[in-house]
Amino acid sequence: MKIVIATNNMDKLAELRSLLEPTGCVLISMAEVGFTDEIAEKGASYHENAYIKAKAVFDFCRCPVLADDTGLSVDLLDGAPGLYTARFAGVKTSYADKIEALWSLLKPYPKQQWTASFHCVLCFIYNDKAYYFTGQIEGIILDQKRGRNGFGYDPVFYLPDIGLTTAEMLPEEKNKISHRGIAMTKFRDFLQDLEEEADR
Ligand code: IMP
Repeated sequence: MKIVIATNNMDKLAELRSLLEPTGCVLISMAEVGFTDEIAEKGASYHENAYIKAKAVFDFCRCPVLADDTGLSVDLLDGAPGLYTARFAGVKTSYADKIEALWSLLKPYPKQQWTASFHCVLCFIYNDKAYYFTGQIEGIILDQKRGRNGFGYDPVFYLPDIGLTTAEMLPEEKNKISHRGIAMTKFRDFLQDLEEEADR
């Protein structure tokens, strides 16, 4: 199956590709289908934002589309940046700037309280119907960066049970336990069911 990935985030695209490669699906970027519009993520939830992205591209190409909406939820900040994770501290700021902005908000509080979680919602539009797959992971924000893999907040997202940040993990290790990896396992099972139905 050919699937268009509705994202402009190249890091996310690379991770989604590595997660979907084993299924044998052919993944196509928005640029490859000629979709160049900016998509305004104005939804009130991850589900809505994932749907908005997938639907905009689906309406353009009328082919299977997968979108991912992910957010970092920091407990001390009442779940912020949450839906605004990509826009946190400004749309055009670097990952490094966003981490600095996060640190400045957390600085007044004891480090043991810097708990956070990643939430991922995948929306797959296929034959005009939307399907959702979710994943979540709990961790702690560190006050220094560790590791060079991954992207975004990975260098400061620490998993106490594993003793590593998600940027210190190999991509295949992160994929096994991450919010996106968990959602993607559900999506891969769904694709397998579709395939089995088609074979019947
Ligand atoms: P969106 O899902 O495109 O709205 O982007 C969410 C933002 O969350 C990205 O721009 C990254 O900064 C961050 N992000 C998403 N996934 C990850 C991840 O797996 N690790 C670290 N940061 C992430």
